[in-house]
Amino acid sequence: MLAAVRSATLIGVDGQPVTVEVHVSSGLPAYQVVGLPDAAVRESRERVRAAVLSSGLEWPQRRITVNLAPGGVRKSGSGLELAVALGVLGANDALPAGVLDGVAVLGELGLDGSVRPVPGTLALVDALARAGVGAVVVPAANASEAELVGGVRVRAARTLGELRACLKGEEPWPDWDPPAVDPGGDPDAALGDDELVDLADVRGLPFARHALEVAAAGGHHLLFCGPPGTGKTMLARRLGTILPPLSPAEALEVTRIHSAAGEPVRGRLVGHRPFRAPHHTASTAALVGGGSGRARPGEITLAHRGVLFLDELGEFAPSSLDALRQPLEERAVRISRQPVSLTFPAAFQLVACSNPCPCGAGAQGCRCSDAQRERYRRRLSAPLLDRFDLRVRVDAPDAADVRGECSADVALRVAAAFGRQRARYADWPWSQNAHVAPGAATRLLSLERDADDAWRFLIAERSLTGRGATRIRRVARTLADLDDAAAITADHLELASSMRGDVP
Ligand SMILES: [Zn+2]
Repeated sequence: MLAAVRSATLIGVDGQPVTVEVHVSSGLPAYQVVGLPDAAVRESRERVRAAVLSSGLEWPQRRITVNLAPGGVRKSGSGLELAVALGVLGANDALPAGVLDGVAVLGELGLDGSVRPVPGTLALVDALARAGVGAVVVPAANASEAELVGGVRVRAARTLGELRACLKGEEPWPDWDPPAVDPGGDPDAALGDDELVDLADVRGLPFARHALEVAAAGGHHLLFCGPPGTGKTMLARRLGTILPPLSPAEALEVTRIHSAAGEPVRGRLVGHRPFRAPHHTASTAALVGGGSGRARPGEITLAHRGVLFLDELGEFAPSSLDALRQPLEERAVRISRQPVSLTFPAAFQLVACSNPCPCGAGAQGCRCSDAQRERYRRRLSAPLLDRFDLRVRVDAPDAADVRGECSADVALRVAAAFGRQRARYADWPWSQNAHVAPGAATRLLSLERDADDAWRFLIAERSLTGRGATRIRRVARTLADLDDAAAITADHLELASSMRGDVP
């Protein structure tokens, strides 16, 4: 007897539909899985068998062959176990024919027959819905997450025995806990105490605050450089409080990625842009993705559509910083994995802080040797420093300065400037000034007529190359958007240039 059950597996952060075919034939009892299973899938046999027996069902003492199609795709993890178990039951005549037509099944099994949650449910259900599946059976713990996809009927499974009874029409489908109600879309609700911060907490630093606002509005990479204790880290940490909101499509995309990475998804979409702040001791694999075993998304992918914050940039391993260069350029990261190489999305905004030298004192009272300073400078390679559109020196704040503007007020200006960019780039493959292609820069980042001279002067004065010039022009466009100006003025150019200083 042959039974086929639809399911899905994760490839990187994307779902891939899989058909689980189970063939039960006469012969000595045996169990074989074919079709590129990874170790976890191969080892699922004992769990599936124990779950079937614990549920009071018969395990066929015959030859069982499980084929996972399509054959060329590596199947990973334990999320196929429930589909395998139903396939065995179907091939053994323990399920009515046709009950799984048009239905896909996801779930891991406990030895007691319980159905356990699987990572990446959102990505898996999304892929199944796109493939035309009309209904999915998912672990009860993942049901509200699966509902986020829309357009597909979601059924919850708590145990294998109960699921079989529901499929046979002997019991009603169980309810599941409704998703937590979003209290008025409060973006802080899902964040830890550390994130309950506001720009009003930061005193002084008007220029650095302005640069932070520009970074938020135009999506520009930003580097703050200055001695410890100036408030630069405090300021950078508040970037998340002024960023423009995610679009509904981006929210689904970000939630899907976080779900696939095994981050908790509480039955609602991620409402705010991610803000990831890995420590400088993080490995290169933790930062950019990969690692041994199943390739995992790294911090840069978890920061997709949001911010990657690197404090003490000079303390990160040079190899890790080098590994950031390709993803910064391509907004995605390629991880080579046999038999295929994976691509993870990585459209993140880089924000970093660095000290002027290892001791941090900078020009005043530095105790570092020339060799130490030189080694430190070499760590922050020129190609990496070049990626920052905004490079701002942060010195000690003026203690007399009054309390700063609050995040909500700044966020309003950022959102308005962001809206102007969205409208301008509606027919282009980007939505923010930071990503305007160099070839389109002259046309899209137009200057006011009397700014031409200022532009020529700036290029000559700073010996700007094509790339550096484009970066300054993009920032100038963001300043113009914050001013609601149709074209870039000489003042915008001058300010953009001063926000791209030579640091450290
Ligand atoms: Zn020093």
